Amino acid sequence: SGDGKDLDLAGLVGSLLKETETVLESSGRYKEQLFASTQEVEKLRSDLEQVKQEAQRDPLTGLANRKVLDKELDQLIQSADDGCQSCVVMLDVDHFKRLNDRFGHLVGDKVLKYIANTLTAAVKGRDCVARYGGEEFCVILRDIPVEGARSVAEGIRKTIQDSNLKRSETGESLGRVTVSLGLTMVKPGDNRDSVIERADGALYTSKNQGRNRVTVREASETAEEVEMA
Ligand code: GH3
Ligand code: MG
Ligand code: MG
Repeated sequence: SGDGKDLDLAGLVGSLLKETETVLESSGRYKEQLFASTQEVEKLRSDLEQVKQEAQRDPLTGLANRKVLDKELDQLIQSADDGCQSCVVMLDVDHFKRLNDRFGHLVGDKVLKYIANTLTAAVKGRDCVARYGGEEFCVILRDIPVEGARSVAEGIRKTIQDSNLKRSETGESLGRVTVSLGLTMVKPGDNRDSVIERADGALYTSKNQGRNRVTVREASETAEEVEMA
């Protein structure tokens, strides 16, 4: 009948309204959930970015670590094969053990940070500076002739020699802090080990000849040739 129909319609409208309300409510909840998970994803993304950054850095100095250096060296060797000349500098702090023994490791750490900053400033953010090990650093000088690299290395040596570092608490001088450097160019056909070995050999020569100096080892030189010279 007509009455029955009217009643059904009212009931239908009522239940439709109720359903709509439920849908609206749950879509509100979904929106909230979606917002929460978007925030969660954002947080994960930034955590991941931070972890990635930290995985590339030496925690004490903030310099590139060995993993990054290895990659950079591979690229350097690749570009040497393509005819681009680059140089690698190894640097070791002179008599660092004495400095630690006399002033303590925390002061030693500060000196390492100072040296890291000096190296970063010397390459003007253009090239990779890495902490190779304890008090050893490696600087990559991309697309530069050997004489240019020698003068960058000499500038680093002189800056550190002239730095006159003092203890921040007492103003007490740390005495003269110096570094020894070994420089070599990357040649086609090199690999990571051969480059590091030459730079290390040059560094060793600097140590042997009295420290606080730069030694250049030509890519063609063998260790014997240098020792005879
Ligand atoms: P040389 O002129 O022949 O290089 O002498 P050296 O005393 O610098 O060489 P040696 O290799 O005997 O000593 C290196 C010292 O560096 C020993 C080690 O305790 C110190 N060292 C290594 N890593 C760190 C560090 O992260 N912080 C501090 N404070 N010292 C470190
Ligand atoms: Mg050393
Ligand atoms: Mg040393």
